[in-house]
Amino acid sequence: MIRAIGLGQVRNIEGFWGNYLAQLSERGILSQWDQIVATSRLENFYRAARGEFGTYEGLRFNDSDLYKWLEGAVYIQKLRPNATVAKVIETAIRAIIEAQAPDGYLNTYVQVNYPDWKWRNLCNMHEMYCFGHLFEAAVALQENFGDARLIEVSRKAVACITAIYGPGKKVGFCGHPEIEIALYRLTEVTGELQFAELADWMIDVRGQRPSPFEAEIADPTSETLFRAANALSMKSGKYDGAYAQDDKPIREQTQIVGHSVRAAYLYAAAAMSASRRQDVGLMGSLTTIWENLTEKRMYITGGIGSTGDNEGFSDDYDLPNLNAYAETCAGIALAMWGRRMFEGSGSAEYLDVLERVTLNGVLSGVSLDTTLYYYDNPLESRNNHEREPWFLCACCPPNVARFVGSIVQYAIWESDDTIFLGMPIAGEFELSNGLVLKIETKYPLDGRVSITFSGKPTQKKLAIRIPDWSDEINVDFPNATEGAEYENGFMVFNHKWSAVTNLKLDLEMTVKLHRSHQLVLDNAGRLSVSYGPSIYCAEDWKVESAPQLCVIDLGEEVRPSQKTGLDGSLLLQASILRDKATHTEALYEDFADADTVASTINLIPYRLWNGKGKSYMQVWLRHN
Ligand SMILES: [Zn+2]
Repeated sequence: MIRAIGLGQVRNIEGFWGNYLAQLSERGILSQWDQIVATSRLENFYRAARGEFGTYEGLRFNDSDLYKWLEGAVYIQKLRPNATVAKVIETAIRAIIEAQAPDGYLNTYVQVNYPDWKWRNLCNMHEMYCFGHLFEAAVALQENFGDARLIEVSRKAVACITAIYGPGKKVGFCGHPEIEIALYRLTEVTGELQFAELADWMIDVRGQRPSPFEAEIADPTSETLFRAANALSMKSGKYDGAYAQDDKPIREQTQIVGHSVRAAYLYAAAAMSASRRQDVGLMGSLTTIWENLTEKRMYITGGIGSTGDNEGFSDDYDLPNLNAYAETCAGIALAMWGRRMFEGSGSAEYLDVLERVTLNGVLSGVSLDTTLYYYDNPLESRNNHEREPWFLCACCPPNVARFVGSIVQYAIWESDDTIFLGMPIAGEFELSNGLVLKIETKYPLDGRVSITFSGKPTQKKLAIRIPDWSDEINVDFPNATEGAEYENGFMVFNHKWSAVTNLKLDLEMTVKLHRSHQLVLDNAGRLSVSYGPSIYCAEDWKVESAPQLCVIDLGEEVRPSQKTGLDGSLLLQASILRDKATHTEALYEDFADADTVASTINLIPYRLWNGKGKSYMQVWLRHN
């Protein structure tokens, strides 16, 4: 079994990821907490505890923001302790415990404003979705601080669910998947199979007919609360279910459809289920859906869900840039799915996508100081997009916190006989059998990685992912007793690791140009640029010098520049041609070849754009 190392095995994280963690600990987590308090997300728990009626404020799934924040805060606190964060974590835990009803139910929106709606509309109400995030926060507290208080809350919550739903009882699952992942995690920390078995069942009954959602939507009273939400599940006047991946059972699905965050959370859980049950058929279906996504529906940044209409997927090759939705949460959900596909298959191809979305489509969603966020991550901007501290629907900021806080679980894994290094992270990590792994690197800013072992000498395989973007890897391993083997996208060294082993790698980074499949109409005649794992973009603050107005001159190479970006990344320089400015005021005139002037532009990593306010930005650039 391949298992990510736990945060308790981290001695420290430095470098690229250390910077994000330090910022989250000092700023991001507390600025999110201030928003949670200011928007009554915390107060709603107190209102429920006091038995108030009608005073709930905010969207119906806002409880999930507190839970998700708590999970993230626990991870950051484990890695970078901060006394103020410790205090507010305690405040959050107590508020949650106090708000739970005696029967285990907990959803402050329903408890305070709509008590008659308890368990009446699983399709839209998000009760189980919120529970899922509660369970994940509970697992984080138990795993990292040995604090079982929310595990007890979770146990009561599951009992509240299974009093009604489960095998041999009423069919029910959430319109927004998430609880399934959380139930598997509850089993991991408690060893109790009941949680995983409930998740397996939810995955298996989803997509069957009749769907429990059909009757919920047909109930005319549901229109009072869910008119717009109901419409998303309908097609030509009939229940369709694709929006919530309830159009057919997962084992019959071949394309990725509907709401992108729901889809990737569901498939992440299904991959956990397939691994747990050794279900080859389920894993096969997930592979097919994954291929449809990554071969036809994913942005080069790893962003997924191209349209805001359903916050999700449209058609193959429909990947508009300016209006790309590519929600930050969807990127995180894709990384989660990739992680679980890897853990179930051992294949590095999933980690290529995981890295792509992490370093590009997810990190674009957060400012370097971790106080500003994008909800959607377009690949073009016309001075109309800017990160914000918070949102009415604030799913993304706390999701970034819990993802970055647990980044090591997306980078380093162990099995009985192998250490897997998917993505180099600078720091020191305690592996099983008393072996300590030290990684020194500036990755992803450059590809040089030094790996040193200490602790108890241990014979194990070290599997280093060969990135999809890399053409050449130089290895300096003077103590090697045998050469590397290549399997499943990894370079594998079998060695007795001890204090005298040092292995140096250079994952050689070069500038690469990319074009799209010809059916991505938005990218016709355009190229994009990468350096190592980072996708680059052009950005300017004045319309006169906007990248939309220039073409890349392919007569010259795109090359590293002397400058560095805000996080120390190498900037690139491209030669361009611009139309010479004309002085005519006419909106239209007779066509004539334009005179051009040659110039250059800098390209920056996509994750860094909008570092200085609104701008003109393009990932896909016209070329001559
Ligand atoms: Zn989100």
